[in-house]
Amino acid sequence: MYAHVGQSFASRAYDVLIVGAGRMGAALAWQLRQRAPHLSLLLAEEGGLPNEEGATILASGVWHSDVPDEQRERAERTRALLGERLQPCGVLTLSEQGGVPPSVPYPASLADAAVLPGLRLDPRGGVYSPASVTLDAGQQAVRLGADLMLNVRCELRGGGQVALHRLSVTNTHQVVVDHTVTVTAAQVVIASGAAGPHLIENGLGQPTRHRQAYRQLPRLNVPSGPDSPVVRACGFVLRPHSGGYVVTPPILHPDPWGYQPVGGRLAGVPVGLRREVVDSLLPHLEALPALASEALVVGRSSADIPGAWLALPEGGWPRWDRLDEQHVLLLGGPHADLTGLAVAEELAEALAQG
Ligand code: ADP
Repeated sequence: MYAHVGQSFASRAYDVLIVGAGRMGAALAWQLRQRAPHLSLLLAEEGGLPNEEGATILASGVWHSDVPDEQRERAERTRALLGERLQPCGVLTLSEQGGVPPSVPYPASLADAAVLPGLRLDPRGGVYSPASVTLDAGQQAVRLGADLMLNVRCELRGGGQVALHRLSVTNTHQVVVDHTVTVTAAQVVIASGAAGPHLIENGLGQPTRHRQAYRQLPRLNVPSGPDSPVVRACGFVLRPHSGGYVVTPPILHPDPWGYQPVGGRLAGVPVGLRREVVDSLLPHLEALPALASEALVVGRSSADIPGAWLALPEGGWPRWDRLDEQHVLLLGGPHADLTGLAVAEELAEALAQG
């Protein structure tokens, strides 16, 4: 393991190099070590495991079975791979049609039954921690013989060559490249989240149609307990967390590369929520009155609201794509909670066979 620049690393050839140890890259590394122990493997990550700024650490970690038919098998496989790490607290979906089954209490503290009377319970649905699943996968991969390099920014050079820019921090807290080592890999998997498509475009000259968005996850201080179910309504997911809820708003549109997230204004007052998040809330305040109350933490600047860049894969679902003989793109995105592990496993299978 090469955690910092003090641990010297001599250039060498690998069978597989995975760029990014978020949930997708770490899961792939573990799956690959189990399926193909004969392949040498380097898992390289710009930050820690997982990166504090990546999408994985903030992902809501909600699994449910409400997926399109073509994703059902992958969703079930992901649930099986999660095993006991999934806490099956149930997922309630609220809608405008239908009624409340007598056995299921209506979450009256969050939603208005007059506007959203329909309620469906998925008792197999539940929550897990994508960050600890990722840490676990990374550690298992290392235990099974993978090399792991942290604090390294990878640059694709084409032909399976990757420049590893090893990073350190100056005493004025600036992140700088300490030195660069170039390695060659027979297969390079770009599992770099929102940054992946740009690495490919810049390094391999291949434009992609995948996009990215900055997602904020504000807190809602409505009491929840360890057995409270997740609530889905109007495109929002409300996950019980530390005695309250974490709100995952719908993504209204992709953000341009280079966009700097800024807080918006609400009735003239600066808040930490982006204007896009405020816009996604406004049409649903009657249905979800808790989101119109002081319980929603709107913050004063964007630094007050946890947020991260998220890949938006074309088609919306986690996927992998072969780019050329040496390069594969692996993307999670907004539905990585539901099918991400199965997609990483499929790629591991393909690499192990190929
Ligand atoms: P995913 O859900 O696809 O795993 P994440 O954003 O959680 O998405 O993970 C992607 C990881 O890739 C992040 O931890 C990020 O730090 C890492 N990453 C992005 N670009 C690079 C790069 N150039 N070199 C190394 N790691 C990178």
